[in-house]
Amino acid sequence: MTSTLPEAPSALALTRDEPLARHTYMRLGGPAAYWGEPPTIEAVGDIAAWAAAEGLPLRVLGGGSNTLVADDGVTSVVLSLRAACGDTRFEGDRVTAGSGVMLPALARAAAAANLGGLEFAIGIPGTVGGALQSNAGIGDGRDLGGLVETVEVLDGGAVRTLARDDLEFAYRTTSLRRSGAIVLGATLRLAPRPREECEAEMTRLLEARQASQPTAERNAGSIFRNPEGDHAGRLIEAAGCKGLTAGGAQVSELHANFIVHDGSATSADVAALMLEVRSRVAADSGVTLVPEVEWWGDGEPPEVFR
Ligand SMILES: Cc1cc2nc3c(=O)[nH]c(=O)nc-3n(C[C@H](O)[C@H](O)[C@H](O)COP(=O)(O)OP(=O)(O)OC[C@H]3O[C@@H](n4cnc5c(N)ncnc54)[C@H](O)[C@@H]3O)c2cc1C
Repeated sequence: MTSTLPEAPSALALTRDEPLARHTYMRLGGPAAYWGEPPTIEAVGDIAAWAAAEGLPLRVLGGGSNTLVADDGVTSVVLSLRAACGDTRFEGDRVTAGSGVMLPALARAAAAANLGGLEFAIGIPGTVGGALQSNAGIGDGRDLGGLVETVEVLDGGAVRTLARDDLEFAYRTTSLRRSGAIVLGATLRLAPRPREECEAEMTRLLEARQASQPTAERNAGSIFRNPEGDHAGRLIEAAGCKGLTAGGAQVSELHANFIVHDGSATSADVAALMLEVRSRVAADSGVTLVPEVEWWGDGEPPEVFR
């Protein structure tokens, strides 16, 4: 697919045609034309500069837990920042975490340091970088944005520290998403809390998830955003969509705002099922649902993402 694309300098250590299904939580998606796991921020900058010079889009993949990648893949340079931005440093009641750090690991590390505030993140299988794009949070109002003091970004080749006042956090979106900057990490303000209390709360939250969400199946978390004052899951269930299928994809019988699959689905199946759900919900309730999951692909996205 990518034979006419430029050859990357070997110093950048990019590989070709990496199947992104290996890196997404849904285990779906075609290849990235170029894939890299740079070891340092400097190497990230070198790759970004090369991609810009070649006119190639650059994307960062975190945990791949909020992303649906086209079956044909993406003609982009895709980076994992787990190595370059994988450190966590505690100082007093603050933690500075790299964007490649997984949220559940960070929540556990904070608990071990007798710091509370991140318990809500225990069941969110994404990275700090991904969570800063979507202001990841849970239904009781706790979200990552509520803890942020500063965010470090790589923007136009320069590392910059953005103060909280420079950032906007709202329901499942932030100004960082619109900026297109590569997020390197963030400093979060936590609060002293005994480890046992933090861990007990995290256990409760995980048990509640296991009872209400299809955690054992391949999924991408909430597929649609909650409309103001309502829940996408309630609307989808009311429209009779639980169990609905398209190809190998199915609306979860446990939680209607989750799409699951057994390994036989394609991303096109998921997008087709989302479109069908959206149209049934619109017919039933008059509400047009908006995807929470993000589409990655070349060219025009499937109808439900337009
Ligand atoms: C089982 C399950 C449960 C979930 N529960 C929740 C929940 O309770 N609350 C919630 O809010 N979400 C939830 N999600 C959704 C998802 O986990 C979150 O949105 C998470 O924050 C996504 O992080 P990620 O690293 O996986 O992002 P990815 O899917 O890898 O990426 C998402 C977007 O962020 C961008 N991005 C990632 N890292 C960077 C970076 N360093 N710099 C710039 N851009 C970057 C990507 O390019 C992409 O545009 C759930 C998902 C699953 C599968």
